[in-house]
Amino acid sequence: MSTTPLELTTLVDDLPGIGAGQGDAFRQLGIRCLADLILHLPSRYERSQQHACIADLDALVGDNTETPDLAAVVGEIASVRPGFGRKGKVEAILEDDSGQLQMVFFNQPWISKRLQPGRRIRASGRPGRFSGRLQLVNPRFEPANEESLEETTDRLLPVYPASESLPSSRIRQAIEANIIDAAKLLEDHLPDSYRDQRELLTLAEAYRMIHQPDGSEDVQRARHRLAFDELLLLQLGVMMKRHHRRDTLSAPALPFDEERHRRILARFPFSLTMAQQRVVSEIGQDLTLEIPMNRLLQGDVGSGKTVVALYAMLMAIADGRQAAMMAPTEILAEQHHSAIRDMLADSRVRIEVLTASCSTAHRRKIEAGLADGEIDIIIGTHALLSESIQFQDLAVVVIDEQHRFGVQQRALLRSRRDDEHQVPHQLVMTATPIPRTLSLTIFGDLEVSVIDERPPGRSPVITRFVRGEESRRVYQHLHDRVRDGQQGFVVVPVIDASDHGLTDVHTHRDRLLASTLEGCSVEVMHGRLDAAARDDVMNRFRNREIDVLVSTTVIEVGIDIPNATTIIIEQADRFGLAQLHQLRGRVGRGDYQGLCVLISDPVTEDGLARLEAVAETEDGFRIAEKDLELRGPGELFGARQSGLAPFRVARLPDDLQWLLLARQDAAAWIEADPWLSEPRHALLRKRLLKAHGSALGLGDVA
Ligand code: ADP
Ligand code: MG
Repeated sequence: MSTTPLELTTLVDDLPGIGAGQGDAFRQLGIRCLADLILHLPSRYERSQQHACIADLDALVGDNTETPDLAAVVGEIASVRPGFGRKGKVEAILEDDSGQLQMVFFNQPWISKRLQPGRRIRASGRPGRFSGRLQLVNPRFEPANEESLEETTDRLLPVYPASESLPSSRIRQAIEANIIDAAKLLEDHLPDSYRDQRELLTLAEAYRMIHQPDGSEDVQRARHRLAFDELLLLQLGVMMKRHHRRDTLSAPALPFDEERHRRILARFPFSLTMAQQRVVSEIGQDLTLEIPMNRLLQGDVGSGKTVVALYAMLMAIADGRQAAMMAPTEILAEQHHSAIRDMLADSRVRIEVLTASCSTAHRRKIEAGLADGEIDIIIGTHALLSESIQFQDLAVVVIDEQHRFGVQQRALLRSRRDDEHQVPHQLVMTATPIPRTLSLTIFGDLEVSVIDERPPGRSPVITRFVRGEESRRVYQHLHDRVRDGQQGFVVVPVIDASDHGLTDVHTHRDRLLASTLEGCSVEVMHGRLDAAARDDVMNRFRNREIDVLVSTTVIEVGIDIPNATTIIIEQADRFGLAQLHQLRGRVGRGDYQGLCVLISDPVTEDGLARLEAVAETEDGFRIAEKDLELRGPGELFGARQSGLAPFRVARLPDDLQWLLLARQDAAAWIEADPWLSEPRHALLRKRLLKAHGSALGLGDVA
């Protein structure tokens, strides 16, 4: 007669409602214990049925062991068999004029008191057949009255993510048998007063209601609590991080005056656009403070972020300190190096580039130069993150194309000084416009500056989406452009010929040389060429010795060749939306009209929608939003690399309103209790650190 008390850690094998031998099927879905089971949320709901007489229900269920729909019956309790067995099972027989069914209750021994024989009740639940008998497992019931006969049920039936060996109905059965008890074990991490203020359900209520809603309003309220909870936890983490940076870390305050400002601007071969001026002054302001700058510079491809970065770095140099710039690829690091070196050609600023392909001897020299302050500006790749790199006085760090680096890596570069409380100011640049929803979440601890204007004289790149059969005409056009002295890119999905039917760089180059581009100088470029070879190709392309570059996406980010006017992307449906937009940004950077041709025969609706989205708009921001819509935030840049767990309930951008509210509350909360150290916040703090501690780099905070 005794029942084993349930714990959230009770293994599935020991739970009521889960048959012997089913444990593995649950584990395959990641459900190991009671907590996992309760966290397994419905992916959707089905409407329940009206009530039926027992004989009809019996016929309806037929030989199936379970049916998907809920049913309600009104009848009289004929007999009750009170709690017995390890799982405290209670059985009762319900009958009406047409027949009988069995009601089974797990783990609710007290329920037998409410089930007195002779009582008329209305019971609702999911009908099934067990040992030939019509059954309702853990039905809900209430005293029957005249109305209940007319009433129809409005219960919603949850449908769960399932597997072949474990159908949704089995999962539902298991959850129905446990949810009431499990809910009692859930401790809420939000203080009562806060929940009241925001009209949030308790965690227990929310989980019960999301699994067993009485109507769609229940689903809404439960979802509200759970989604809000996720958003709030993340925002609290982000705000805590921000507080840590502003309160316990400091950076050198860089003096700013008109004279310096003028001297820096004089280095640039053009005058800044209004947008660049605005951003430069936002950054200039930040740098004069001891609060470490943590700013995200967003600007579409070709908007001119590099000079803004250089401005920030020169602020550091003007104060006798050092600056570093980190790029995601060697090509880019080298391009930044040569562009910046050119602009600083007649100055005493000493600038070096460090990549993985530097010789050991050269690397040693650079390390020494950085440590003793010989080198003013270092530009590099991941190689800069090495333990052996020590700066004498690093004041500004610029990270180009942030989404390729995780939050962790950013932290590494930031703390390259002996005094762990002294960090450099940080500017993160991205050409992939980050939708607001994301800049508030994964990049939530950054201030944001936007360059929303192009340098003068640029007309938008024309984008065309064509089918494979038209490619001859497209290459003919490229040939004409080459004859006019312009250059072009051709982008293909892979380096080597493969059996996937994907176009590769070498085969494609040979094909073009033998047909439409005969007589042109066509070279290949891809990530497997060593740095020297890539340098050589890039330099010859820059010097116009090469007309057309057939390449993989290594040219994706930041390459700046104003004379390249046409980009043709083969099998364009193989590329991500934001990626296509980036690639398109490689052309139209000079005085000529840019043209981007997407060649593709997309096989899926989705593929077609993506290509049309890119062809339709030149606005990188809209493309990013579209990407978010089509792929979901988990897939987007940064989201995965950031190491943050994807949301289980919250949906962006749909839940933006909740996100904003959560952000506001989190800010106030952290202001009042920065480390959540008040005893009433202990559980909240624990769950927060568990969820986001490592991804947000809150380790040192805790
Ligand atoms: P991105 O934002 O994509 O990194 P870049 O910084 O590479 O863009 O700038 C794109 C091109 O525009 C470069 O050739 C750069 O020299 C030029 N450029 C940047 N700002 C201006 C400006 N204010 N006036 C004219 N040309 C500019
Ligand atoms: Mg750039």
